[in-house]
Amino acid sequence: MMIKPDAIEKGHIGSILEKVTSAGFMIKALKLTQLTKRDAIKFYEIHKERPFFDDLIKFMTRGPIVAAILEKDNAVSDFRTLIGSTNPVEAAEGTIRKLYATSVGENAVHGSDSEENALIESKFHFSGREIF
Ligand code: GDP
Repeated sequence: MMIKPDAIEKGHIGSILEKVTSAGFMIKALKLTQLTKRDAIKFYEIHKERPFFDDLIKFMTRGPIVAAILEKDNAVSDFRTLIGSTNPVEAAEGTIRKLYATSVGENAVHGSDSEENALIESKFHFSGREIF
């Protein structure tokens, strides 16, 4: 997962991590860091033809993010349920995006969309000695 710059600017790191651990996720790796433009382009490569790509890269690089590796049974789908829909207007009550997101673009958190991508994204953010 990532906590995105909008949520960090608003001081929501602690509240979001609290919701994540209360939902039964174990934190296996955690860091506050900032993506370079090159990092963000690589991370969101799949969206490079989308009209919002430039805005997404600007947003994700404008300040620090928190990256974490989480562990739980059914982690990918349970985490997507916990964060809610991409657009906070459509997100269910009580979800992280409903509570903390600003807009469809500035939506507070990222969650991997498959186990395969979770592994790729874990290696993107962390070296082996940072994973517990
Ligand atoms: P996610 O899996 O729920 O994060 O959603 P997607 O994979 O579809 O999109 C990746 C990220 O791109 C989203 O979390 C948003 O930050 C951003 N994004 C998606 N759709 C839009 C959009 O219509 N406008 C803008 N500005 N950003 C968007």
